[in-house]
Amino acid sequence: KINLKPQLPQSCQQRRRSHQHVPLTTSKHEVDDHLYLHDAINGKVYQKRRMLGKGGFARVYEVIEECDIEDSGMIFAAKVIDKSRLSRPQQREKVDIEVKLLKAARGHPNVVAFHKSFEDEKFICILLELCNKKSLAQYLRRKQYLSEAEVCCIARQIVSGLSHLHDNGIIHRDLKLGNILLTDDMTVKIGDFGLATLVEWGKKKTICGTPNFIAPEVLQRQGHGPEADVWALGCLLYTLLVGKPPFETSCLRETYRCILKNSYRIPSTVSTEAADLLRWMLRHKPKMRPTLSQVSSHAFFTKHSETSSISTPISKTYTLSF
Ligand code: ADP
Repeated sequence: KINLKPQLPQSCQQRRRSHQHVPLTTSKHEVDDHLYLHDAINGKVYQKRRMLGKGGFARVYEVIEECDIEDSGMIFAAKVIDKSRLSRPQQREKVDIEVKLLKAARGHPNVVAFHKSFEDEKFICILLELCNKKSLAQYLRRKQYLSEAEVCCIARQIVSGLSHLHDNGIIHRDLKLGNILLTDDMTVKIGDFGLATLVEWGKKKTICGTPNFIAPEVLQRQGHGPEADVWALGCLLYTLLVGKPPFETSCLRETYRCILKNSYRIPSTVSTEAADLLRWMLRHKPKMRPTLSQVSSHAFFTKHSETSSISTPISKTYTLSF
């Protein structure tokens, strides 16, 4: 654990000088022992403030960019990957692909904004827009029940962000509640491009994604096209509306069997419009599923158009709140 206070020098100049002298110790996650991240290309220094989360290879921190006016630097989320943990060349390649796709996905309010990436001999650091309110997984856990209008407001933004990705040839391949992040003003952002790929790279036959949200064609190794993202979005929508994933069972094998048999139940509490959209998005055959533009013009969304709007991430009349 970092004790920030005693190490904090008085002025920024002092900080600049001192960041090079922060003692390095070796631990399982060496980055924990560093108070500063240093972009050698332009000399910028980022001070770690708190840990936001942990991923497979990365640790994510809130950081503040050092500037001459105390505490007025920009704040980011820094995803830091310890190079010593990337033992195989494919793992390094994956990080480079993630950065490439984050760059290609820039410029949409519902996709986590990429600021820049830099590295030194020990770490790769990816600076992202900070999403302070955690993910939809925590949001759902906390609220337990979401109204359909609220789900519509969330889904509208995910569909908008995902359309932007697909329009740029990017398939996300790992849409799940934990990868949909929320900012301070409760704008919904698609994050974690760790499994994303480009359509032009051809249909990948690898099995990836979250078990519950894996599309049948991916399970059958028939490839992962944009339709598999629509399937996962259907699973996500179902989870927000019903409170649990559509194919969840106590055993993974059984879940896969249910996915392949297209066996799930929509409770009667779900409205006719929402149920109709879910059935369409969860069609077994990829080509039978709606496109994202068909999804966004579905009655489920038009029904709630007065209370939520697609042009503004959060509608004026309907806001998400913790
Ligand atoms: P990995 O690709 O290694 O799985 P993630 O990108 O999923 O890592 O990040 C791990 C965790 O860090 C996430 O679950 C989330 O809690 C947090 N996180 C990631 N990106 C951000 C961000 N931009 N803002 C705030 N928290 C983030």
